Amino acid sequence: MLHKRELPASEFEDLNKVYQVKLKLLFWLLRTPPAGQVTKEDLETLFGKNSKLLSWFGARRLGKPDKRTQFGNSLDVLADKARSEPLQANQVANAIEHDAAFHQHWHDSSLELKFPGVFTAWLDPVKAVAEPFYDWLASEKGFPKDTFGLSHGDMTRAKIMQAYRPQSLGICGYCDGPLGEIGTKADANDCEHFFPKSKWPHLAIHPANLFASCKGCNETWKLDKTPMGNADEAGIRGTYHPSLLSGASLISVVAKQSPEHPMRVSIEIRDGAVPKRAQTLVNTLDLEARWSNDVNEKMDGRGVSVFVSKAFQDRFRGQTPDEAEIGELLDDSIIWARKNIGQEERSIRQAAALQYQKDCQLAQIIQELL
Ligand SMILES: [Zn+2]
Repeated sequence: MLHKRELPASEFEDLNKVYQVKLKLLFWLLRTPPAGQVTKEDLETLFGKNSKLLSWFGARRLGKPDKRTQFGNSLDVLADKARSEPLQANQVANAIEHDAAFHQHWHDSSLELKFPGVFTAWLDPVKAVAEPFYDWLASEKGFPKDTFGLSHGDMTRAKIMQAYRPQSLGICGYCDGPLGEIGTKADANDCEHFFPKSKWPHLAIHPANLFASCKGCNETWKLDKTPMGNADEAGIRGTYHPSLLSGASLISVVAKQSPEHPMRVSIEIRDGAVPKRAQTLVNTLDLEARWSNDVNEKMDGRGVSVFVSKAFQDRFRGQTPDEAEIGELLDDSIIWARKNIGQEERSIRQAAALQYQKDCQLAQIIQELL
């Protein structure tokens, strides 16, 4: 949403192969449902007689007729509904097919998701077939390379989260804070669905819908907030997207004096071109409050000069600079913070706080430092 994060091509390609299998299964159930209970023979017709997918979907996931698994039952329920309402089932399949290409049409002004849309009665039966794919991705084994014809090894959620690490430089793409190290207690490399899978289960393993975020964002996100609203035209136009439209270069971030306390700052985030997008970003992630609190906590007990005190020591080493030289130090610190946006955690909020301090608190900083 804030910093651009893109699933690398090799992971994108492999996850897309798995996603296409999921779509194939859904389209078959909706457009040409079998006459009765879904059988292994049906899957042979669908995937080909020699496909390794047969044993993967076979007995364990379908179950024998007398020991049907939950997933097997879900296939039957959706097929049954499709048999009784063939016209609508076809429209649902078309809607899902349309939505699966959302990433290729993100910049079309008329883009909206078509499913569930008016087909709310189909959400639960589609979800019961679509959502387990995410659970399988999240399992330790994930999707095996040979079964799904993948080019770069087995596909797991952990692999996808790892794939985002190099480009993230340890920074959360949603809030500009630290991501946390993988495998530590503070491991916060959490999997985010941009389109929540509870509302759009057909996109649950879509390769342009899974991103990594920090724990704070994940917990806020998990409140089931949907930055795209109902994923209608206005909703999609009113939000940034982690890979298709990132916000960092589009927003302006300004620190002001907090209305509650003269020595505290209050951060505001705006988008001059499309104000709604900045509002959505703030509402979804609570960024203004989180950034303001973070800056104020740093100053607590250490004064407003805390952001430049180390640079002050490094530059002047015991000498006494004049006021103009301290002003220059602040200018340089602002330039440094701006230059490091996306490369050092918390740079955006720091640049804003420093600018405010230079404009309004320079006398206080000089008093603290000299
Ligand atoms: Zn975050």
